[in-house]
Amino acid sequence: MIDTASIAHPDEDDAALAGIVDRLVAADEAIAEIEAAKICDLAAALRIANKRAAHQSAERRMRELEERSIATEIGLATRVNDRAVQNRMHAALELVDGYPATLDALAESRISARHAMVIVETGRALTDPDTRALYETVVLERALRDTAPRTRAFAEQVAQELHPRSITERHREAVKGRTVWMQRRGEGMSELGMIAPTVLAEGIWDRLTQQAHETKTAQVAAPEGDTEDDDAVYDQRNLDQIRADIAIDLLLTGGPSIDPTTGAISGPHGGLAAIQARASIVIPALTAAGLADRGAALDGATPVDADTARCLLAQAPSWERILTHPIHGHVLATDTYRRPANLDRYLAARDIHCRFPGCRRPARHCDRDHNRDWALGGTTDACNLACLCKRHHTLKTEKPWKPVQLRDGSIRWTSPLGKVSTDPPERYVIFRDEPDPPPGDPPF
Ligand SMILES: [Zn+2]
Repeated sequence: MIDTASIAHPDEDDAALAGIVDRLVAADEAIAEIEAAKICDLAAALRIANKRAAHQSAERRMRELEERSIATEIGLATRVNDRAVQNRMHAALELVDGYPATLDALAESRISARHAMVIVETGRALTDPDTRALYETVVLERALRDTAPRTRAFAEQVAQELHPRSITERHREAVKGRTVWMQRRGEGMSELGMIAPTVLAEGIWDRLTQQAHETKTAQVAAPEGDTEDDDAVYDQRNLDQIRADIAIDLLLTGGPSIDPTTGAISGPHGGLAAIQARASIVIPALTAAGLADRGAALDGATPVDADTARCLLAQAPSWERILTHPIHGHVLATDTYRRPANLDRYLAARDIHCRFPGCRRPARHCDRDHNRDWALGGTTDACNLACLCKRHHTLKTEKPWKPVQLRDGSIRWTSPLGKVSTDPPERYVIFRDEPDPPPGDPPF
């Protein structure tokens, strides 16, 4: 029997809760109004970029650079990645130009910025202005009274109904968006995803599932009535784990059946299968020696467990190895076992990623840039070289972004508007004291 008296809320709690709800509603309303103002400014920034570019050059690349430079200026000031700012500028202009009623609803705090973006993103497929206006009217009515995710589901149905092209035509277009991506998840794990035509994705899934079932069956069948065998090793993996193991094995060791290099550079078998995975692993000296269990880092940034690090150190020829000092974390050596350390490896180990403020593109995908141009007397050494990704290298070359490298390896950037931002070099972070490394050479 529930004692209703003991769980009844006193009146003052109800009053406090009502106050909280009212304040949250008021806060959301104020935020919506501010978001509308931000969207108008981002759209205005893109208009300025378009106007400047139109004056300068008809070349698409130059127009894009103008946009990037402005996005970077905003990104540095607001501590947001410049690509993200560029995407927001485009979405903002789409909203301002294409969905006036939605912008009004946001400015009047009747919907949230999330609702507005759902309308813009889902409506992208509708290019005819009249169709888009009809779509906006119908979906906005839903947005005024429902959550953003439910509005999205509804908007997708409406866009589908109003779409002028058949599913066949749209699929032909959608296939161009096929892609593979990787995202880090923490605990030394990452997510690898793929967008592919449904029939192929289903085929991959079905093949992996069949192979995983076969593996399971083979393992279970092995003992053949001899269940008392203590030496037998049984497969403890579940179906998900086996699927993942088979996919990893196929992707890391298999070769594609269609290989354009076949019969050309690499002989009759093609060269793609011979290409091995490549990455840099930063290993504290004591972990390498097996004296400590502190993890290592992939590309100097992503944590990797000590067991995996030691395994790569011993066995994998295609992983670059960078050894760090156990106390201060500075680079001790870069893969001395295979070839002598050189400037390039030193730079990659020092910089870890592109040295433009906020950019995290790994150093191995970056150019080595002379901060002070070689042609203007800049030297080719670590004090004047830094890793810059293609995007930011181009921005520095084509637009008035000026880097100066300081004595400690920091790079002081001055933007076209004269704003200064300093990017210090990364250190391999160490919080714990551990004993000095054993005397003698590094253990590899
Ligand atoms: Zn970059």
